[in-house]
Amino acid sequence: MGNLEQLYRQVIMDHYKNPANKGLVTDPTYFTVHMHNPSCGDDMTVQLKEENGIIKDIKHQGTGCSICCSSASVMSLTLMNQTKEDALNKIHAYYHMLTNEPYDQKVLFGDALAYHGVAQFPARIKCATLAWKAIEQALISNKED
Ligand code: ZN
Repeated sequence: MGNLEQLYRQVIMDHYKNPANKGLVTDPTYFTVHMHNPSCGDDMTVQLKEENGIIKDIKHQGTGCSICCSSASVMSLTLMNQTKEDALNKIHAYYHMLTNEPYDQKVLFGDALAYHGVAQFPARIKCATLAWKAIEQALISNKED
């Protein structure tokens, strides 16, 4: 295993052990989406708070493997305070990274890159994208703006 892979594995384990923005709220101004990944048993709920087209807050709560749970934490940090358009661009860049397609490295950077290696394990791509697909659906469905 190379140094970069070790670093990425450490990033994933850090987010798994100390996830950011974990825990749901009962605030009705948050838009909630629940998703399940039957192939691994991952279960994920995300909550989105938008104001004037800007993501003001993201919450997540789920059970599942380390890739799924940690990627929800990374997703929340990556998309926080972004416009809806920028967030969707980052989400699509993340999907492209996971399927080894070209993506704009000015759009996607930071801890999200730790999941690049998942592209080698097609069965785990659904784990790495579950929280991202949930927030994508929330962004599309939420009619706040
Ligand atoms: Zn999983």
